[in-house]
Amino acid sequence: MKHYSAQRAIILDVLSNTKVHPSVDMLYEMCKKQNKKIGKATIYRNLQELVKEKRVAKVSCNFKEERFDGDNSVHNHKVCRFCGKIEDAPCSSKMLKLISEEINNNSYESVGLTFYKTCNNCKAKLSEEVVKNG
Ligand SMILES: [Zn+2]
Ligand SMILES: [Zn+2]
Repeated sequence: MKHYSAQRAIILDVLSNTKVHPSVDMLYEMCKKQNKKIGKATIYRNLQELVKEKRVAKVSCNFKEERFDGDNSVHNHKVCRFCGKIEDAPCSSKMLKLISEEINNNSYESVGLTFYKTCNNCKAKLSEEVVKNG
């Protein structure tokens, strides 16, 4: 029987209750609310282990920092290039069928598509800037 630390339980709890797909830094801030003594190194180490154990997924996006997802099921993401906001992207049943076929035919271990889309917040900011500068 493997020993799971209290810190690991907090990390899993925070991850399963958020939809923001946090980075290590974001997760650190969130975990600190539950346990002030939790350290960033502890979070980082536990995350790598949880990913290896496939209990947590890494979100593929082209940001420097890694982003994590407590939802380990097959799903896609939409990412804002400007602020780095990551949301789950709903998948049509047609695409889900194709993806499942690909996985089964090739014994892939995981999959996730990343769609890039400027979020509404950034869209509003960008159009504000155009007004200011124009
Ligand atoms: Zn944005
Ligand atoms: Zn997700």
